[in-house]
Amino acid sequence: MPREIIQLQCNECKRRNYSNTKNKKTTTERLEFKKFCPFCRKHQPHRETK
Ligand SMILES: [Zn+2]
Repeated sequence: MPREIIQLQCNECKRRNYSNTKNKKTTTERLEFKKFCPFCRKHQPHRETK
C-alpha cells in the first residue's frame, strides 16, 4: 500500500504538531484538518507538509 507519512502544520504559527498517513491513490489533494495547536492554544487549520 502506498501510504505516505505526512506532517500537519499549523497555519498560524507554522509549527508541525501532528503527523498522519495518507493513501496517495485515494487522496491526491492537500489535506487540511482542524486540530488543537498547543502553541496558539486554540484550534487551528493544520495543513499537510513534508
Ligand atoms: Zn499554531
